[in-house]
Amino acid sequence: MGYVDLHLHTTASDGVKSPSDLVRYAKTRGLQAIAITDHDTIEGLKEGFEEGEKISFEVIPGIEISAEHSPGSMHLLGYFIDSSHPLLKHRLEYLQKARAERNPKMVEKLNRLGVNITYEEVLEASGKGQVGRPHFAQVLMGKKYVKSFQEAFDRYLKKGAPAYVDKMRFAPGEALHFINEAKGIAVLAHPNTLGLNGYSELEDLILQLLKEGLRGIEVFYPEHSPADIAQYKGLAERYGLVMTGGTDYHGIEKNGLEIGVGRGEMRLPYSMVEGLKAIRSQ
Ligand code: AMP
Ligand code: ZN
Ligand code: FE
Ligand code: FE
Repeated sequence: MGYVDLHLHTTASDGVKSPSDLVRYAKTRGLQAIAITDHDTIEGLKEGFEEGEKISFEVIPGIEISAEHSPGSMHLLGYFIDSSHPLLKHRLEYLQKARAERNPKMVEKLNRLGVNITYEEVLEASGKGQVGRPHFAQVLMGKKYVKSFQEAFDRYLKKGAPAYVDKMRFAPGEALHFINEAKGIAVLAHPNTLGLNGYSELEDLILQLLKEGLRGIEVFYPEHSPADIAQYKGLAERYGLVMTGGTDYHGIEKNGLEIGVGRGEMRLPYSMVEGLKAIRSQ
C-alpha cells in the first residue's frame, strides 16, 4: 500500500503546477493517489482526472472552500464532489464574482501604500486560473518590494495587514450544505488556523459543524504540532469523524515543503482514501 496527499493546489487556483503536471509529479514522487483541492474552484478537476486516467493514477476530485469565521480562518475541504452539480456551480460562480471585486481593491490599497503594481501584473502572475493573494505576493517579490513570499503576507497581505481586503464568504453551514448537496465529503481543513483557544472551543465548533454536515477533520498537516495531531485525533475518534491529511503543496511559497511528505514528517497511508470511500458508500 502506498502513500497519498489529500490537500493540493494547482494553477486553477494559486498553485504553480498545472493539474496534469501535478498529477504526473505525484506519480513520479511515488504516491499512490492524490486529491486536487483548489480554493473555491473546480476548474482544474477535469484536466487532473483525465491525466490520471492516462497514466493510471488515482485522482480524487476535491475543493477547498473558505468559510466565514473569526478570529482565524476556516477552510472546508470537500472530497469526491460532483463538479457538475448545479448548486455547487452556482455557489462557486458567486465566489468568483466576490474575488473579482476584491482584487482591484487590494491593488488600490497597495498603490496607496506606495507599492506600484497593476492589476494586469497580478492577472499575469495568476495565469489562466483564479487570482488569489499568493499571486499578489509573487508580484511583490518580483518587483523587489519584499524579499520573500512570507514577508509579502506579513507586511501587506495577511488578514489585518494594510493591503488586506476581506472577501465575501459563505457561512460554514451554507458551505457544508452545498458540499453535501454535490455529494462531497466535507472535512474541516487545518484546524490550527481557526484561532481557537484550546480543546473545548474546537469541540464546540465541531459539534455545531457536525449538525451542519461535517464528516471529517484534517488531522495531518505540515503546520500541526504533535500535540495538535493528538487533539484532532481524539476529536475524530470521539465524534466519528474521518481523519484526513495533506501537505497543502502549492509549489512556491513554503520553503522545503514537498508533495506527499511535507517537510519530511508526513506519511499518509492509502487507507485514508479508503476511509473516505467507506463514508461515501454509506
Ligand atoms: P486567498 O485565496 O486570496 O484568500 O489566498 C489564500 C492563500 O494565501 C492561502 O491558501 C495561502 O496559500 C496564502 N496565505 C494566506 N494567509 C497567509 C499567511 N499569513 N502567510 C502565508 N500565506 C498565506
Ligand atoms: Zn492557496
Ligand atoms: Fe487552506
Ligand atoms: Fe489549501
